[in-house]
Amino acid sequence: MHSHDDDIRIGPDGSQTTVPRKIVETDETLRSSHSGGICVHSGVFTIGPSASHSGSLQVEPGAQVIISGSHTGSLHVAGEATVTVRGKQSGSVHVAKGGRVIVKRGGRLAGSLHVSGVIENMGTRGGSEHIDGGDVVDLLGGTVKRPTRTIGGAAVYEW
Ligand SMILES: [Zn+2]
Repeated sequence: MHSHDDDIRIGPDGSQTTVPRKIVETDETLRSSHSGGICVHSGVFTIGPSASHSGSLQVEPGAQVIISGSHTGSLHVAGEATVTVRGKQSGSVHVAKGGRVIVKRGGRLAGSLHVSGVIENMGTRGGSEHIDGGDVVDLLGGTVKRPTRTIGGAAVYEW
C-alpha cells in the first residue's frame, strides 16, 4: 500500500489549507468540477462529459479511468491499469509497463508522454515523447499535432 500526501490549496487571500487526497475504491462518476489529487485504487472512475478534474490523477493496478470530460494535471497509469480518453487530457502522461492508455476518436492528449506501457491513439496527441521500453501507436484516424513554434527552445503547441 502506498501513502498519500495531502494537497495544499492556496486561497485567494494567500492562506493555505491542506486537503486529503481523494481515493476512489469503487465505481464512481465525477459530474462536476473537482480540484485536488485523485488516486484510483480499484473500480472504474469516470470523469463525465461535462465534468472537469484539475490535479494529479493516479490509476493503480487493475483500476480503470474513463476521461469523457477534461482532466488537467499529470496522469499516472500503473501496470495493468487502463485509461480511456474520449475528452481532453492536458498534462504529462506516465504509463508504467503493462499500463494502457486508449485515445478514442475525438479525444486528445496534450502534454509530454513518458511511456513504458502502451498508448493507442485514435484521436489527437501532441507533446514530447519519452519512450522507455513502451510504445505509442497511432491507429487509423489518429493524428499527431506538431509544435507551431518554439519560445526559448521550448516547443509550443496551440490547441
Ligand atoms: Zn492511492
